[in-house]
This record gives sequence, structure tokens and C-alpha cells, in this order.
Amino acid sequence: MTEALAFRRVRAIDPAHALDAEVDVVVERGRITRLGPRAADDLAQRERVRVVERPGAWLLPGFVDLHAHLREPGAEGKEDVASGLRAAAAGGFVDVCCMPNTRPVNDSRVVTETLVAKARAIGGVRLHPIGAITVGQNGERLTEMADLKAAGAVAVSDDGRCVTNARVMRSALEYASTFDLPVIQHAEDHALTEGAQMHEGAVSTRLGLRGWPRVAEDVIVARDVLLAEYVGARYHVAHASTAGSARLVREAKARGIPVTAEVTPHHLLLTHEALVGYDTACKVNPPLREAGDVEALRRALADGTIDCVATDHAPHGILDKEVELAEAAPGMVGLELCFPLLLGLVREGVLPLSRLVDALTAAPARVVGLEPPRLREGARADLVLVDPNARWVVDPARLHTKSRNTPFARRTVEGRVAMTVCEGNVVHTDAEAW
Ligand SMILES: [Zn+2]
Repeated sequence: MTEALAFRRVRAIDPAHALDAEVDVVVERGRITRLGPRAADDLAQRERVRVVERPGAWLLPGFVDLHAHLREPGAEGKEDVASGLRAAAAGGFVDVCCMPNTRPVNDSRVVTETLVAKARAIGGVRLHPIGAITVGQNGERLTEMADLKAAGAVAVSDDGRCVTNARVMRSALEYASTFDLPVIQHAEDHALTEGAQMHEGAVSTRLGLRGWPRVAEDVIVARDVLLAEYVGARYHVAHASTAGSARLVREAKARGIPVTAEVTPHHLLLTHEALVGYDTACKVNPPLREAGDVEALRRALADGTIDCVATDHAPHGILDKEVELAEAAPGMVGLELCFPLLLGLVREGVLPLSRLVDALTAAPARVVGLEPPRLREGARADLVLVDPNARWVVDPARLHTKSRNTPFARRTVEGRVAMTVCEGNVVHTDAEAW
């Protein structure tokens, strides 16, 4: 039985208290007990101390994902709670929020309780269900949010569907705020996106495919910002994909409206040009946009207008993806590639490292009211050790998720999650290093 875990001479980075220094970090009984230069010196020789030394490695607070689809209940062939949490640990995440668009929909106390109990029994990283806004995600009758919250839900969302009815959305904002639950909107005016396969623009025209125009997202975000202001309730934009969304969130924040937003790695890295070869792995909802949108989203994430990164991890099987684009299910897996892909943006000078760490840790934790992972003495030991220089080639067959749908297969990335620690327990190590 290991008594303590000692990280020797790591670069510890926690922008929440301006920490960026080479230190030792010691974990005992689930907590960080020492943090400082040579703090582990007298421990290194002791038995039952696991000493971790990896030259050049960084130690960061554990990551928090606000947006994952773990497919349980109903589609366990694509993913289940166990495989999803395993993939999360491999990606450096210690907290994972799962969306309610399962079968049945998580619109009740019993589904939320079952998910929470299952995750506890599995151990590893923590699962936080997001309950539905409306019963069956039908956009009409509100769920019993008091029950959802009591069972462990941290937010409500009809993700996959948009709450398009303004009266229902107003009531949802009012009702959810009485339980201090943020309302997370999948912003899509379905009347404007019927039959759409991809972003509406030059590429959709060239390919002869029905387009999903930016304005279908923008009109919902604009309306919801006004409703949130009117009601005085918290509102969170899921997977912002347009320059317009970024602008609307920036304006809302400037006016003091309690609005937050997330962006996915793929909306920061890919454009609609990726669909030119009808690659179903690049079909996502909302769709990949244009270079100008990518530019605006990057700027908004860098300056904090967009609070956080969320993966929108959406596992699908071969039968959902190896079909014509029109028939293909939208989504890609995201948990295990999120950090290495985004580290590339830090290298390119697009994003300060401290902002990336904040956007993966404290910022998302704040949105749903979780205790933010911290690197400081006394804090719960939720950590991720990364090797920023490890180069590797993405092989979907070696991911821990049950699904393989990613357009990043065969891409060489630089940066690797070497170890994930949740509440002091080592929940992941990369095979190559240990
Ligand atoms: Zn969505």
C-alpha cells in the first residue's frame, strides 16, 4: 500500500493563484500536504512512497469537462459510464458532466441517482449528471429540478435539442435559478436548420448539401441573453461555434448579465473545409464553421469572453459513421485528445498557457459550482501530470473510449497526459512511462 505520492522537481502551474514554479509536490491521504522547492527531499528514501520524477513534466490541477455524452443508459455499445470515466481519466479529467440526451432521457431523479451510484461504484474520476430542462427533452413541460438537484445534477440542459419556445425558456431560467442550477442551452433554431448537414457557406454550396447557417445559433443566444437579463438568471452557452455568439457573449458580460460560454477543441481547430471529402468524422452539431469564426472563437477564449473549453465528447459506432454524410450521426470523441490538441494552440501563440489551464480547470468548475481543483497545500489532490514534449501519433484503436470516431486519427500531436490523480488516487498513467 502506497502511503504517499511524491512528485519531484515538476513545473507546477496553477493560474488561480499565479503559481508557475519548479517544486516538489507531496500527496497524502487524498490531499496535497506539501508544495515547495525540495519539499519531498526527506521523503524520497522512505518506503511506501511512490516517487514520480519525469524531467520536463508539468503538474496542473485536474481538468473539468462540462459537456460529455457517456451514452448510458441506452447506447452502451458506444460508451458507458465505466469506459467514459476511463477515457476521461486518460485525458486528465477529474470531473465529468454528462449530458441527459440518453435513452431514457435523464429527466428524473431515478436516472440521475442511478448514474451517480454507478460512477461511485466504479471509482476513478467524478461524474456529475446534467438533468434535462424539459420532460423527455420535448421542449414543453419543465422537469422537477428540485429532484434532479437533490439527486446530484449540477445543471440542466436539453443538449442535442434547443429550447426554442421563449416562454418555456423564460420559465426554465426562472425555475432553475431558484435551485441555483445554470441553464445550458444548445443554441439552434431548428426551423432554420431542418435537413442541414453542415455549415451553410461556400463549401455546402459546392458539395450540394443543405446548410446550417450561423444565424440559427446567433438568434437563440441573442434571445436567451435578453431573457437571462430580464429574469436575472444564469445562462450558459454550450459549444459556441460562431463569431456572432462570441460577440453576443462579450456584449452580455460587458453589461453585467450572468452569461458564460464554452467552446470545443474542434471548433477551435477545424473549419468547414474539412468536409470537402464528405468525411463523416467531421460532421458535428453545431457544424464546423469558417476561418473567421475560428479566429473569433480563439480570441474570445484567449481574452476570457468564452470561459472554458468543453469536449462535447460524442462517441458513435461504425454503423453511425460509415454511411453517407446525410445519414451520419453528428459528433466526435474528445476526452483523450483535448489537451494535446489545445497545447498546439499554446505553442502557436494563440492562447497563453495560463488561460488554457484556467479554461480546463477553475473556469468550468465555477460554471457548475464544483470545488475547483487547486495546486496548493491542503487542497484535495486532483492533479494531472503532463509531458509537454512527448510526441505521439493518434491511433483511435488505442483510445480508452469504446468508440473510434475522430478526424484526428494519424495526426502527430505533441504533449501527453502522463498521470491523472483524483482525490489522491492514481486513476491513469500512460503505459510508455511507467
Ligand atoms: Zn449540443
